[in-house]
Amino acid sequence: MSIRRILVTGGAGFVGSHLCERLVNEGQDVICIDNFFTSQKSNIAHLLNSPNFELIRHDVTHPMWLEVDEIYNLACPAAPGHYQYNPIKTMKTSVLGAIHVLGMAKRCNATVLQASTSEVYGDPEVHPQPESYRGAVNPIGPRACYDEGKRAAETLFFDYHRHNRVKIKVVRIFNTYGPNMHPHDGRVVSNFIRQALAGEDLTIYGDGSQTRSFQYVDDLVEGLYRMMHGPDDFPGPVNIGNPGEFTIRQLAEMVIELSGSKSKIVQREAVVDDPKQRQPDITLAKAKLDWQPNIALREGLQKTIEYFRSIDIDSFRAPTPNY
Ligand code: NAD
Ligand code: UDP
Repeated sequence: MSIRRILVTGGAGFVGSHLCERLVNEGQDVICIDNFFTSQKSNIAHLLNSPNFELIRHDVTHPMWLEVDEIYNLACPAAPGHYQYNPIKTMKTSVLGAIHVLGMAKRCNATVLQASTSEVYGDPEVHPQPESYRGAVNPIGPRACYDEGKRAAETLFFDYHRHNRVKIKVVRIFNTYGPNMHPHDGRVVSNFIRQALAGEDLTIYGDGSQTRSFQYVDDLVEGLYRMMHGPDDFPGPVNIGNPGEFTIRQLAEMVIELSGSKSKIVQREAVVDDPKQRQPDITLAKAKLDWQPNIALREGLQKTIEYFRSIDIDSFRAPTPNY
């Protein structure tokens, strides 16, 4: 395969940094665009000296002009505390960011992949969630800026595909964790590990009976890669997630056990519109991409705990005050 020019928006973030690393190691010509709202250069510092890696500090709500063959559109704050900090900006990032990468893909005849989310299913009444489920999103709640922004982005992707024949790939990503997560992003895995290592109480929002299905980042990156190179007649959407489902209380107990912490578990007020359950139906990913996750939660948590032990958490700036 010849060398491809690949743009990764949000490439310095948690998922983006792993994806950039994989593409750089493969010898591709990689351009990373990021405004560093929820990340810092440390995630990609090791790539900066590679001749096939280029970093552009830019905000995707403003137009971009590049010549590329593939685009992975990841730019968007993903943790609730980050995307709710400036909800109007979050919506602009999803919608204007999508318009800009789709316009670029149309001009360059590039393939463009959208990092969509299981949040398009909202607080689901169907369990597990197949791609055909249309979701139960509250359009006026505090999560709407993210959920509806991502839903609008999916609409734009499919309209550019139908009307302008843009080659699109839409991936609905379920909760993902691993090294390079921001230690102050307020997401449940990073919160629990940070709290356990500091000997602080692990904070469960609500009674902890709500469930999530947690995917290790390497499995996700493989899924994104396979989707980019998947069948031409398969634009998605496709669920990429680990069907192993756990309650938040089970997760807290596992983090305490694996980190050898003496921390206790405490309950805090429940979060507004918090989905009660979430589990991907990955039948389509298996059939179309021959993809399924390989890393179990215990194994992935161990690697993530090791990462959190290896970093100086105090040197990370909290992107927003509300986590
Ligand atoms: P992250 O916050 O670590 O990464 C997002 C990156 O985008 C950051 O580097 C941030 O600085 C950048 N960014 C934000 N707004 C930008 C803007 N306007 N212009 C340029 N850059 C901007 O989050 P992540 O977990 O790596 O998520 C990556 C993508 O995957 C997001 O689109 C997210 O919605 C999607 N996703 C992630 C998960 C998950 O569990 N991690 C689940 C579903 C979907
Ligand atoms: N959560 C929690 N304690 C925390 C952080 C999150 O109990 O310190 C819960 C949160 O209410 C939700 C689940 O963990 O039910 C996953 O939250 P996260 O913010 O990681 O992701 P999302 O809600 O977007 O799936």
